[in-house]
Amino acid sequence: MRIGIDLGGTKIEAIALDEAGATLLRRRVPTPAGDYTRPLSTVADLVATAEKELGQQGTVGVAAPGSISTRTGLIKNSNSTVLNGKPLDRDLSTLLGRPVRLENDANCFALSEAVDGAGADADLVFGVILGTGVGGGLVIGRKIIVGHNRIAGEWGHNPLPWPHDNERPGPACYCGKHGCIETFLCGAALSRDYRSRTGKDLTAEEIALAADSGDVPARECLVLYQDRLARGLATIINVFDPDVIVLGGGLSNIVQFYAGLPALVGRYAFSDGVDTAIKRAAHGDSSGVRGAAWLWPIVSRG
Ligand SMILES: [Zn+2]
Repeated sequence: MRIGIDLGGTKIEAIALDEAGATLLRRRVPTPAGDYTRPLSTVADLVATAEKELGQQGTVGVAAPGSISTRTGLIKNSNSTVLNGKPLDRDLSTLLGRPVRLENDANCFALSEAVDGAGADADLVFGVILGTGVGGGLVIGRKIIVGHNRIAGEWGHNPLPWPHDNERPGPACYCGKHGCIETFLCGAALSRDYRSRTGKDLTAEEIALAADSGDVPARECLVLYQDRLARGLATIINVFDPDVIVLGGGLSNIVQFYAGLPALVGRYAFSDGVDTAIKRAAHGDSSGVRGAAWLWPIVSRG
């Protein structure tokens, strides 16, 4: 069996899949706050418990924010900052007594959707995470393209393309730059836009509900968000031209974003038209953990 772990900033999820991809077990626990060692022992406990309950050993794949630096072998770019600078894959291998495959969580999301999700019939799948952060992953032929610097797909830290004057220089990003796509397309950005129009604090989900019941500022926020999303996706299409783009993360549940999105992307992409399928994730927020499980043996890291 394959065990997948999604080591997130707020929760740690474990899943066990049989050879066909059927779910044998699933657990979700809050991520212990504070230091680096407690989340690791939580992962070890989840794996030990799963194997005891199921009476078999499994391979272990882990989805985590950030990636392993090719220069140092340590985690970089993680918004779970306690992981940065740590040899997370080696520490987990030692703790679990077996080789552990570790991959960026957005890459795992894209892999899951490419294997048996919304991109299952497609060769080139780009998975997009729209949530607390904005990430992405590229999968070709059911294989994650990690890239030379292991940052392939990280479109969230490209600048917002075709910026309007009032979008320059854009909000400060935790990566040190201004105006990153993430600062316009994360959940907090939608709330910020609504607050600037109304003075009220609503979550992304509440803004979508308000728009549905006729709230004009909420509708304007969604229209602007969709246009920014289209600009961002147009650059992905210009570079990779994927067969399918799969949207995941909390904001992918906002159904208003999908209608007319390919046509809107077509206004920006370098093409006479865009008929790329832009789909909602089939496995919802379980895609990261499923993709982590699929790191064995589908993806060969060589
Ligand atoms: Zn950034």
